[in-house]
Amino acid sequence: MNIILLGAPGAGKGTQAEKIEKTFGIPQISTGAILRAEREAGTELGNKAKTFMDAGDLVPDELIVAMAEKRISGNDCQKGFILDGFPRTSAQAEALGHMLAGMQKKLNAVINIKVNEDILVKRLLGRRQCLKCGDNFNVYFNAPKKENICDSCGSELNQRSDDNEETIRNRFDVYNNQTNTLIDYYKNKGNYKEVNGETGSIDEIFSSIKKILEESIG
Ligand code: AMP
Repeated sequence: MNIILLGAPGAGKGTQAEKIEKTFGIPQISTGAILRAEREAGTELGNKAKTFMDAGDLVPDELIVAMAEKRISGNDCQKGFILDGFPRTSAQAEALGHMLAGMQKKLNAVINIKVNEDILVKRLLGRRQCLKCGDNFNVYFNAPKKENICDSCGSELNQRSDDNEETIRNRFDVYNNQTNTLIDYYKNKGNYKEVNGETGSIDEIFSSIKKILEESIG
């Protein structure tokens, strides 16, 4: 089962991808997370990506496409994968199409998680993650009991360097100018679905996604 999650920054793609991974046993592929790990490790790719990421701009297509192809070719992706944050441009979507055709794979579902932009800005500004155990918090919607400390393991929480107001605004501009167009692209291909990611709990939103995925595998 090969899935793409679409949605603006902060729509909940990562959160829902984790739940799909646990339920359906296929890996989440987050290009943003791979890039952050490359940066952390100080690799050439990580160093190249840094300036773009800090500004909230897109990392060039050729770097991203090569990185995605390598990841999708991994053994653990044979039964399927969940793309979270890729593709983000028409060129990436075209490249993905060619890549999958070459591997005799197809997309089973493209799910767009829809959330109003005003809510997203607050979600992004408030989000904090524990880098030790991976638990997620939000100072506005799901605050940790003790300020900046993880409820689960007691470690200090981290705020992503691109979750600041200026970069967030640019990420939305980039999304509206370059990524939003993928909605029409995949609508025309016929396997496009939408879920409301604004109202309802994480579990309720996941139920809608699960239903779509179960229907798509028949
Ligand atoms: P994310 O974690 O998905 O919000 O991604 C964080 C940042 O990584 C983005 O703002 C981009 O700079 C970069 N990035 C992640 N995925 C892509 C992609 N598919 N194309 C270009 N840049 C990306």
